Amino acid sequence: MNTLALDLGTQCGFACSCGKSGVWNLKALSSESIGQRYVKFQHHLETHFRACYIIEIVYEEVKFHRGVDAAHVYGALEGLLQKFCIDNEIEYRGIGVSTIQKVATGRGMAPKGQKKKMMFEAAVREFKSVNIISEDHADALWILQAATKPI
Ligand SMILES: [Zn+2]
Repeated sequence: MNTLALDLGTQCGFACSCGKSGVWNLKALSSESIGQRYVKFQHHLETHFRACYIIEIVYEEVKFHRGVDAAHVYGALEGLLQKFCIDNEIEYRGIGVSTIQKVATGRGMAPKGQKKKMMFEAAVREFKSVNIISEDHADALWILQAATKPI
């Protein structure tokens, strides 16, 4: 029985309690329509769900976005995720940004513009056996940690 953590975005970080983690690249190719992002997301969700016994999906509950586009993508991915969970009878919950930051860095508020970098550096120290490829990957590892080992 596993928990899958997602950092929702076009570069979608994922970390599963089964041990797999990384980034799903949802970016549409220039020859594809922009909506392919959501087709890819669904495909990755289904592939991992079939390979692994997932009972819960957790994700970072973001209340503020720097850009309108990012906010729209986040909302669309969140909606798809919630529907996927309902269709497959999986629990889902959002975890607040400050809770995740606290688990990662020991404090709830990082200095402006420093958050992603701090969480990445803390992840490199904490998850020594994982080859962390990006900040999105690091975020997903911390979301999983916040969900499964709350402080
Ligand atoms: Zn898994």
